[in-house]
Formats: sequence, C-alpha cells, structure tokens
Amino acid sequence: MDILIAEDDATTRRLLQKTLEKWGHRVQAAPNGEEALAIYRRGGVHLVITDWMMPGMDGPELVQRIRATRLFSSIQPYVILVTSKSSMDALEEGFEAGANDFIGKPWNDIELRARVGSGVRIIELQAELERLAHTDSLTSLINRRALVEALRRDEDRMRRENRPIGVILVDVDHFKTFNDRYGHDLGDQVLKMTGQCLQGSVRGGDYVGRWGGEEFLVVLPGADIIQAAEVAERCRTRLESQRLRTEDGRVLHVTASFGAAATEGANREDIMTLVQQADKAMYWAKESGRNRVKIYVASADPASRKKNTP
Ligand SMILES: [Mg+2]
Repeated sequence: MDILIAEDDATTRRLLQKTLEKWGHRVQAAPNGEEALAIYRRGGVHLVITDWMMPGMDGPELVQRIRATRLFSSIQPYVILVTSKSSMDALEEGFEAGANDFIGKPWNDIELRARVGSGVRIIELQAELERLAHTDSLTSLINRRALVEALRRDEDRMRRENRPIGVILVDVDHFKTFNDRYGHDLGDQVLKMTGQCLQGSVRGGDYVGRWGGEEFLVVLPGADIIQAAEVAERCRTRLESQRLRTEDGRVLHVTASFGAAATEGANREDIMTLVQQADKAMYWAKESGRNRVKIYVASADPASRKKNTP
C-alpha cells in the first residue's frame, strides 16, 4: 500500500516510516501539512497517517484539504489522525474533518498495525468494487461506463496536446445467427474471442471495451483517421483468420464490420458525436456486405450535409 505520512517531529516521522516500510508498505513522508498535500495531489496515495499538531497546516486541515481534492481515481484515501488528544470534542473535530480513524500518541506497534490493516482492507475493497463496476464480466474488457470515462479523459488530453483521437466501432457480423443456431454459450464464446482478438491487435496506448451487445469500441489516442483505419483493418484480418470450434466439431468463422472515425483540427464536436460517426461508418460497412472497414466521411453523411447547408 502507498502510504503518506505527515509529521513535524523528525524522530517520530523516521520511526513511523521505518515501521511501515518493515511491514511492506511504500512510504512517503512530509514534515508539514503543505508538503504532504502536494505529495497527495500528485496521486497514488491511498492511506494517509497524519499528526494532529503541526505548525502551519495542522492534521484536521490537511484531512479537509485532502477530502476536497478531486483526483482521477474515485477511491477515497483512508486517513488516520495521530494525536495525544483523547477528548470527545477532539475526536468529533477529527471525524468531521474527514478522518477515518485515530491512533494515540505514543502508539504501540500492535495497535498501529491493526489500524493500518483496517485501512488497507477498506482500500482494497474499494479498488475491487471499482474494478467490478468498470469491467464487463463476460469478456473481462472494460465496460461502456469505463469507456465513456476514459474517452472523455483522453479527448481532453489530446485536445490539450493538439492531437487527434480515433475510435473504431466494431459489430460482430450475423451474431444473432450464432446464438440462434448454436446456442448462447457459443454466442458468448464468439464475444470472448472477438474481444481477445481486438485486444491483441491494437497498438500500445489504445484500448478496447465492450460497448454493449455484440458491439466493441476501440479507442486510439493520438490516431488520425488513416491510422484508425489501419488498426481497424488489422483487427478485421486477424479476426477473420480465427477459427471457433463448436462442440459437435464444426469450425466457424467470425467476422465483424468496422467503422472508424477521428477528430481533426481544433473545431471538435463532443466525443459522443465521434462515437456516433464511427457507428454510422460501421453501418456503411454492414450495408456494403459486412466484414469490412469503412471510415466516416462527413460529405457522405446525409445528416451532416443537411446541417452544413445554409
Ligand atoms: Mg506534531
């Protein structure tokens, strides 16, 4: 676990750090609240142990500031206040500031270990819930919700870096036929195989998720429409070359239709519009015979032509 310590007394700080490191934690230590907050804001800290009495920003204020900080991770840090205060008023103030637990000063290692252990379990549970909430259980890929979050984050990043972002919408061809003819177990296998194949065919930094039903979305930060089309074509040929064997020994081919779209220039539309464009291109691929890649071209889109006509 990544632990942050805020403690103004150097001897106590070193002792606490050594003890926690001995128990296998990665520890960063700060001599005051300001530095601790700066370390916290860099991200990656899940458990904070802070002294109450420190010159400048004290423990409760540090906890408040930490609670007010919005980091990308939705996992809330677990905060333990270290204090020699034991009055109810002090405890109330600490809890109100957002502390999860207290430990008395001087502490003994058995108690410290137990309290840190509780924090670690809570953080691990949060992380597991987070993972489940973002994972598609059938394919183990990220789900639609996680895709939308990641897509918005990466679109912001690419916009700042003045780079494009590409998406590919993938729809398995004749999926209903697989289900109807061979049963839903085989349908599930088709989806798993397609997901694995896409995952194995994208570039580093690209990612694949299940968009819903038999649809997948590939996100390619930094890719223009040409690169997106190239990756789509690579995915398409790989999938086409895969074989799926049914229980009664039949060998099946799985193909999919691919629609690619990418942002260009500074005048960008909402990222969900980009997904709709990829969806449209995917329909063009279906219409022209499936198992192919189509790219979104605004001039070929009747909806876009109408909009641009005065
Ligand atoms: Mg102190």
